[in-house]
Amino acid sequence: MAENAEVTQSPSPSNDNSAPADHPSSTTAHAQAAHHHGHEGTFVRPSDLLRPKTTSRPSAPTQPDRPIDRDQRAGLKAIRDFLRIRNCYDVLPLSFRLIELDVGLTVKESLNIMVQCGIVSAPLWDSSTSTYAGLLTVNDYLNVVRYYNLHADKLKDVDKLLLSDLKDVEKFLDVKPPETVSASPEAILFDALRKQLISRARRIPLVSYDSDTQRTMVTSVITQYRILKFIAMNVKETDMLRKSLAMIKLGTYGNIVRCTLDTTVLDVIDEMVMKNISSVPVVTTEGILLNVFEAVDVIEILKTGDYGNLTWTIGRALSARSPNHPGIYCCSLDDGLDTIFETIKRSRVHRLMIVDDNNYLKGVLSLSDILHYLLVEGQEETDQT
Ligand code: AMP
Repeated sequence: MAENAEVTQSPSPSNDNSAPADHPSSTTAHAQAAHHHGHEGTFVRPSDLLRPKTTSRPSAPTQPDRPIDRDQRAGLKAIRDFLRIRNCYDVLPLSFRLIELDVGLTVKESLNIMVQCGIVSAPLWDSSTSTYAGLLTVNDYLNVVRYYNLHADKLKDVDKLLLSDLKDVEKFLDVKPPETVSASPEAILFDALRKQLISRARRIPLVSYDSDTQRTMVTSVITQYRILKFIAMNVKETDMLRKSLAMIKLGTYGNIVRCTLDTTVLDVIDEMVMKNISSVPVVTTEGILLNVFEAVDVIEILKTGDYGNLTWTIGRALSARSPNHPGIYCCSLDDGLDTIFETIKRSRVHRLMIVDDNNYLKGVLSLSDILHYLLVEGQEETDQT
């Protein structure tokens, strides 16, 4: 079994949202590497990068007038005020590419394009009507996996499956098509984000309507990471969000779906679909975090069109990961959103695993949890101002 070489990202301060975010080559001085069976990731904790280790912050009962509470409210208000005066178009970098896939392509071709272009989702284009036909995401591939798992007899025709057939796969599995929450590029960012959070969609296609041709056109797709990076780059008050995750009860701590290196990819996919989650932490029998299996890993596993690879163990799948994989981001219950925003500014983070000093998995903090807090849950904090 090959070693899985994961690489940490080096912090690289940049001033605008269009600056490249990823520097996957060098390791940080403080990054810690655990060694377990050769499948472990390299862990980066915001607190390691930004603050020398101090004793844990006291998690005293909430007292509304403490400076830390006032600052938290001011930080949240600054972020919301900022989102209310920006539109979706502002989030886009100065130059970007958009890869649209024709619904006449096969699923296999789409997987190859995804891998070659390094993307994990793409808007679909229906050339028969010259219109936008929804968003292709990793969830579609998970559905395909589940479909062939139920109908192994149809597997011989898998290479002929078209992107336009995915609707039938959804119908067959009796899964509701994901609610397509699109927004106009001119929509107020705050409103578009609230809409996205309610629908639990993880990305927003920016779709404009041309009244002359009566057709829809996609300008770009904005992800949760891009929005948080936009906030991190432009709202300096993010450094006022010093309340710890423990204090604001941010993240998921109960019933965490986890797996071991011996679990099969197929079983993990099932869990991800049933629970509507995009990643599953890989732990030892004692609960020590080793790595994280992500829904997007399925793209790499399927690109050869060999659906037999799904019987692989998670350990084997992680070993086959590209050496450019950015690594796993961790934080502790003592971290605040200030340090997490600092990490988002520097690196392409998709989620953080919450661990204790011994790397024991305590919880999961997803980007949707952070956005939910900024836009919805933290409301009571600002209401007290
Ligand atoms: P995400 O999958 O990142 O979009 O997360 C959706 C929601 O599920 C968030 O509230 C996460 O905290 C939670 N979540 C993510 N991964 C897991 C997991 N493995 N087990 C339990 N909850 C999770």
